Amino acid sequence: MLRIALDMDEVVADVLPKFLDLFEQYNGKRPSPEELAGRKIYDLPGGKQVRQHIYDKGFFLDLPLIPGAKEGVLELSKHYEIFFVTAAQEFRNSFEDKYDWLIQHFPFIDWRHFVFCGDKSVIQTDYLLDDHAFNLRTFSGKGLLFTAYHNLNETEFTRLDDWSEVLAFFENERTTKSTAP
Ligand SMILES: [Mg+2]
Repeated sequence: MLRIALDMDEVVADVLPKFLDLFEQYNGKRPSPEELAGRKIYDLPGGKQVRQHIYDKGFFLDLPLIPGAKEGVLELSKHYEIFFVTAAQEFRNSFEDKYDWLIQHFPFIDWRHFVFCGDKSVIQTDYLLDDHAFNLRTFSGKGLLFTAYHNLNETEFTRLDDWSEVLAFFENERTTKSTAP
């Protein structure tokens, strides 16, 4: 089986609703889609305090799923070996939260396939699905960019807007490969 590495935040775990709530808490309003396009919410004027909360214990524990992610990963797991690869090191409190979150939402993925790493260039799977172009740039396999507001201006990688596009991409990969001479 070919192997797929899946990033967590903004690929299967939705951090944006929490960020938007925090931004509103501090600034009395939510940023518009235009303001969010091409940048991180915490790089907006008034966004700095939002970032501090990423260090809080529990921040990553109750994040909602990205729509379709659970069903999507289950479907992919029938055809590929799935690994969750997340840069947890930057936020020491995130380790336990992320582990518990994965166990809760993806009980069908073995804990041996949870990879907490810093530099993702060490990952040698066949595919990496991530919302950060810098992770894809150092990846030796096929890098896939999962659309998020902050990466809307990236043009370097195959872009997948949502989980239905992810499934369609991999279905096409399998069809193309099985019909190749
Ligand atoms: Mg991410």
